[in-house]
Amino acid sequence: MTVDWSTAERWLMGSASTDSLANEHINTLCDSIGIRWGGSEGERHAAEYIRSQFEAFGLRSASIENFQVNSWKATSADILISDETGRTIDARASLFCPSINVTARLVDVGFGMPHEIKSLNQNLEGTVALMASGYEPFTFPESLTLRLERLSKLGVLACITPHPTGGRHTAHGHASDWRDHNPNDVPLPLIHTSREDGALLIRRANAGASVTVHVDSKQLKKTSSNVIGDLKGKNWPDEWIILGAHHDTTVDSPGANDNASGCTVVLETARLLARLEQEYNISPGRSIRFATFGSEEQGLQGSTAFVKKHYGNDPIPRLMINLDELATGAMKGVALQFPQLRPLIQRELDAMNEGLTCHVMSQMDSSGDMFPFALRGIQSGMLWRWRFVGRHPDASFGHSSSDTLDKVRTRELKEYAGLLARLLLRVSHTTPDQWPEKSLDIDEIATRTANERGSAARTM
Ligand SMILES: [Zn+2]
Repeated sequence: MTVDWSTAERWLMGSASTDSLANEHINTLCDSIGIRWGGSEGERHAAEYIRSQFEAFGLRSASIENFQVNSWKATSADILISDETGRTIDARASLFCPSINVTARLVDVGFGMPHEIKSLNQNLEGTVALMASGYEPFTFPESLTLRLERLSKLGVLACITPHPTGGRHTAHGHASDWRDHNPNDVPLPLIHTSREDGALLIRRANAGASVTVHVDSKQLKKTSSNVIGDLKGKNWPDEWIILGAHHDTTVDSPGANDNASGCTVVLETARLLARLEQEYNISPGRSIRFATFGSEEQGLQGSTAFVKKHYGNDPIPRLMINLDELATGAMKGVALQFPQLRPLIQRELDAMNEGLTCHVMSQMDSSGDMFPFALRGIQSGMLWRWRFVGRHPDASFGHSSSDTLDKVRTRELKEYAGLLARLLLRVSHTTPDQWPEKSLDIDEIATRTANERGSAARTM
């Protein structure tokens, strides 16, 4: 079939705006359901809601796929200064932080870089380190994991990191490198504090104070879910494009931006393309699979299970695009993990005439659900948005209870859905001769990933 692009694109943009269900979706996920930690009741409700919407739009095989998740739970996290004040410090255990109960001398290690450790000129064995989680200015960035491994080798017992922005804020970080075989295998107990108490701890560390660090946590097995719904292509029904987003959140977050925003756009894009077919008989050329993943925040376990279940053997899909944290800036284009599809995607973006551009990341990005697809040799990428430039200034609230609906620009989400529906429809109709003949070599990708371990993603 050929497509009347003018009719299709005018209808998609119009319906994305005026018929939008974006508010309904994001309100349901954030306010009615709320916290969606993988394996929880909240996650289960979110998966059921998304499945029911896929079904209502008329997608094929709308279903929930359960998998077992290696989960984690902290019941307490405290930091106490052992001096005359005996003050309790703002504390939050990092995700997958093991249990610990120590009282030890507190040492400010700066950013934990080699020159800083050397200039301390002291034995760090048996101490608790206080370290800035950001990158040392002007220096080649070194990941938090590498710096924690350095401290661990020197015999440091635990590490405290202050939050970069003020307002007594703390947020859940993760101590490990997700490029590793077990992404939840952490090098050192990591506990977060607020910027204000971090500054207090620096002053007390300089005065020779000790701290008591106490975390009670456990690892547990839970059932988490992925959700799937398909739209069959008319020209090449056995070739697939995937649009995905994770529906889970961190342990205490309503996850408006991270990632009800991405799920809302997956749902809206699915509605648009399904209704375009129903009302105008305009179908995708290739098949499109819409998917939302559970337990992304626990080391990409949902997307890993999904790739293993569906793409353990050939054939693999043509392309996967991942949506995450879309409420932090308008869409600027597409960022791919591999260079081969850049000309094809850029051609279609140019045809849309919206000033969107396609880029290729200088290194593999293990921070989102496109990563397990990339490891499997699937062309994959994400949207170019805040991660690079143009982040909304009130957006530094991730992985905490402050990731609430008031931060979301729903109008931008509507635009994302319209633009993505157009792009996916266009890409689904590109002729087979425009696609690279050679598939990606997964051994080469594995070597590249191992070489890039510990490096920090380029963000500008
Ligand atoms: Zn996310």
